[in-house]
Amino acid sequence: MKIKDVEQILNDSGISVKKKFGQNFLLDQNVLEKIVTVLPKENMENVIEIGPGLGFLTNEITKLSKKCVLYEIDDEMVGFLKSKGFLNTTIRNIDVLKINVEEEIKNNFGSASVSLVANLPYYITTPILTKFLTETKQVNKMVVMMQKEVALRICGRPKTKDYNALSVFMQYYTNSKIAINVPPKSFYPAPEVDSSVVLIERKEITNKAVNEDSFNKFVKWIFTQRRKTLMNNISKTQIPKDIVKQILEEKGYNQSVRSEELSVEEIVDLFNDIYIKFNF
Ligand code: SAM
Repeated sequence: MKIKDVEQILNDSGISVKKKFGQNFLLDQNVLEKIVTVLPKENMENVIEIGPGLGFLTNEITKLSKKCVLYEIDDEMVGFLKSKGFLNTTIRNIDVLKINVEEEIKNNFGSASVSLVANLPYYITTPILTKFLTETKQVNKMVVMMQKEVALRICGRPKTKDYNALSVFMQYYTNSKIAINVPPKSFYPAPEVDSSVVLIERKEITNKAVNEDSFNKFVKWIFTQRRKTLMNNISKTQIPKDIVKQILEEKGYNQSVRSEELSVEEIVDLFNDIYIKFNF
């Protein structure tokens, strides 16, 4: 697809591009075709696509899927998508962050495993991933385009600049890796940032947090200020400092340890020890 072809589609159908919805259409046919081969064919049978836009990625997905559900917030896009007549596809004109994921999946896919494939609206990448990881257990694989900087965070390892609360959150639930890097010129309009397609696979959690909601809060707290020590970040929360001090000592950590030095497993262990003494 060339830029002039998209402009033609937009003109002919009277659709405007809306920056507020993070609309950057992926034009590069090679990348579109590559995205749907990141997962094995059997994982492309039941698919959810978020933000189908003008349906360029939907075209490729529906060549492989048996059932595809699209979530699109923009009425104008929905009107256009309906005119395309995609087979075995349900179009939901709704803000994806407002859906009841469990209910939607049960209604559309029963108890089957579902894959999420999307060129995400970048302004809500993290809330979307959080929703599909914590509010359902049926979405086991995701192939999602996002801002490259966020992709690096998701895959970031301890003691590197990319390791933060999002890395710990994602690596607690999943194994992730960057599958494709995509430059701005592959989109219309071109975004100001580089992009990456990330393969995210849910894993069996071997070292479980005793309370996942509190664990996710804890992770955000301990990474609030990356340059500060873990202790310093904790002291701004409701968790009593003396409990943390004692547990750090028992675990043989230096009191000046910084969160970025700890692996996901070590953070889970630390959280569990603290949570047993102090619920929050
Ligand atoms: N999939 C298309 C493509 O690759 O060319 C468009 C991707 S564009 C980056 C993001 C899409 O997400 C837009 O179509 C936008 O309208 C839609 N979108 C933005 N916010 C949304 C939300 N909260 N719920 C559902 N769709 C949303």
